[in-house]
Amino acid sequence: MNDSCLFCKIAQGHIPSHKIYENDKVYAFLDLSPQNEGHILVIPKYHGEKLKDIPDDFLSEIPIAVKKISLAFEKMNGKELEYNVLQNNGSSSGQVVMHTHFHIIPRFEGDGFNLHFAPK
Ligand code: 5GP
Repeated sequence: MNDSCLFCKIAQGHIPSHKIYENDKVYAFLDLSPQNEGHILVIPKYHGEKLKDIPDDFLSEIPIAVKKISLAFEKMNGKELEYNVLQNNGSSSGQVVMHTHFHIIPRFEGDGFNLHFAPK
């Protein structure tokens, strides 16, 4: 953990967040500026800027957490959660917070949200 990192502070509870899921390796919470309703961030409880910096035992917990969150949604709402998982890796890809994180962006029929990766 890094004392000057925003997401480390969130994972440690030093900055408030809306927690969705937590275990000893990962922390998941609602995004402050959601791209779509229910936008969640999943982070390793290990400070590293990029994917390559995260030890495998922390990194491997991320997709398992994503699965647990989607199953919990399904149980609570009686319908499947449809979503995109997005990970910006490096500033030129759009990464702003330099602690590795995965976005879970819920998708709804006709939401008009467009993921485009082509150059502008
Ligand atoms: P990035 O562009 O680095 O992939 O995404 C960073 C994400 O962190 C953005 O979606 C942004 O809304 C979110 N974010 C930035 N600061 C905070 C914060 O203080 N709390 C929460 N919950 N989300 C934040």
